[in-house]
Amino acid sequence: MTADHPGNPCKQCSIPTSRINGRTLRQSPVRRGLLKKADDKSWIQVCPACERRDLFDGRGVALPYCAADGVMRTVIDTEPENVLAVADFRFTRPALDYGVALANLTQPAGTVPTTDSVEHLARHYLVAPSASAAAALTEAVCHWGGGGRVLGNLKRHHAGHLGDVMHRWMQAALAAASDGEAIAQASPQRPAGLPHGLGISFGSKHLRMLDPDRFAVLDSVLSEGLGYALNPKGYALFMRHLRDFHQQLSASGWGHSLARTESGLFVLVRQNVRVESDQPVTPSEA
Ligand SMILES: [Zn+2]
Repeated sequence: MTADHPGNPCKQCSIPTSRINGRTLRQSPVRRGLLKKADDKSWIQVCPACERRDLFDGRGVALPYCAADGVMRTVIDTEPENVLAVADFRFTRPALDYGVALANLTQPAGTVPTTDSVEHLARHYLVAPSASAAAALTEAVCHWGGGGRVLGNLKRHHAGHLGDVMHRWMQAALAAASDGEAIAQASPQRPAGLPHGLGISFGSKHLRMLDPDRFAVLDSVLSEGLGYALNPKGYALFMRHLRDFHQQLSASGWGHSLARTESGLFVLVRQNVRVESDQPVTPSEA
């Protein structure tokens, strides 16, 4: 959750400084060499006026930062008074738009599957649903989300029939009447529920790939940063708020799917959670 922070006056222009997470600032070619690994979990003090050119990545994407008023902003904001919010988390439209761009950067070949490639695999599953296509999709979703351990657990719990279990749940989830029902855990009464070994985070990663216009991901970062519980009720509440928010944005020419919109929100929220020091530092002092 962003909060107002004092923002020490800039030594050169004396406007209140902003702060940006080191992990995001590392994407700036100007700053990259100055940052240490430890800075990824710190706020770095930055002046959006004097250090404007530092606040872009190598392709001209403006890097979202947390301004002195606690709002996530970019240096190219044209309507600074126009502030959006999900839960009590505040940001500008360009900050969210560039968050989406940063979330969907093409990864170096052979590392993590791209969002596009996993969405493609999910469409393949939907056209010809089968246990083997379901198993292939689960492998891809887990790699995409950095869930090697989740995949290992799933394979252990459902040895020899993981594809069947995933296929049965995904078909039931797509037909579910509500978001809470789509992600409710399997039980003797609900054999087609979310399979044992999958939680809300990786369960919702599957749903988001299967239907990016209906579902989005709720993981521990968004849960912690926005306050939605990682359970079916928390997921249902998050989806209701996100869908309302997305509908309003879409009415004014927002081109991203519900799921991509959430990916941008994730990039903004992530700067604000698990920061080791709440006080912004400059890299030379870190
Ligand atoms: Zn300045």
